[in-house]
Amino acid sequence: MARAVCVYCSSSDSVGEHFFSAARELGRQIGLRGHSLVYGGGGVGLMGALAEAASAAGARVTGVLPEALVSKGITGARIDQLVITRDMRDRKAAMQERSDAFIALPGGFGTLEELLEMLTLRQLGYHEKPVALVNVDGFFDPLLAQFERMYELSFAKPAYRALFCVTVGAVEALAYVETYVPEPLPAKWTRT
Ligand code: AMP
Repeated sequence: MARAVCVYCSSSDSVGEHFFSAARELGRQIGLRGHSLVYGGGGVGLMGALAEAASAAGARVTGVLPEALVSKGITGARIDQLVITRDMRDRKAAMQERSDAFIALPGGFGTLEELLEMLTLRQLGYHEKPVALVNVDGFFDPLLAQFERMYELSFAKPAYRALFCVTVGAVEALAYVETYVPEPLPAKWTRT
């Protein structure tokens, strides 16, 4: 079944080529597998590479941008549908509503914020959509180590490891999304 896949990723043009390859491969696989792409709408960094590859592989591309970024003229060239929101908060909500699944590629503060919001909302039961990380070159290892520390010290429940899937590449991430069946998770506020 075709899905609207939301991808969060870096807006930096200065990261290593292997990160661009991973972004292009994810875009290509989204198109080849018949899915559509929802993303932050930028033409810069991994975002631009992702959207270009997705479009070239036949995916419909929806870019969701706040007004302030549209006027900066950094919108991606391969967008079929541009959704303009009032601000960054509305934008995250619009990306969430329009998507069936969320995939994070390596990124900076913006990417982490988007990823962590989807995990937090899943934890609280606001959505039941799959979340996957593409752990290019072990990029997310320190974050995953931080998560382990949170479980160990009871700041988060170990059962929340099931909130997301860590994958090595695009094919694995999309296979996870395509076969995902939401698991019941323990309520956030019960003591274990
Ligand atoms: P960062 O990881 O800090 O580079 O931020 C990337 C994430 O924040 C993306 O997933 C976007 O949704 C959003 N974002 C940051 N910068 C831009 C930009 N120039 N154009 C569009 N979206 C951006």
